[in-house]
Amino acid sequence: MISRLAKRKAPRVLPGSLITLRRKCGKANCRCAAGDPHESSALSYSVAGRTKMLTLRPEEVDEVARAVARYRKSVNDLAAEAQVELDELVARVRANRARDGE
Ligand SMILES: [Zn+2]
Repeated sequence: MISRLAKRKAPRVLPGSLITLRRKCGKANCRCAAGDPHESSALSYSVAGRTKMLTLRPEEVDEVARAVARYRKSVNDLAAEAQVELDELVARVRANRARDGE
């Protein structure tokens, strides 16, 4: 079990975005009370239209950041490909109509 956990692979793609949370802990004598808030990284993502937040440990941030970047690139690449296909379809359908005199 331990080896399985240790071998678990990093996520390839993840939706959402990496954000930095800044908060005050509420202790009167803490540095955050003087305007230096505690910072932690989190993955912000949405489920059924609701925004969720997963707070991350520092050692978890890198793999999440890479997976978020890969997801974003894949989505952008797919959108670009779809736009090209759409443009070609529109041109082809219009050419067919013009040829057939519609
Ligand atoms: Zn504090």
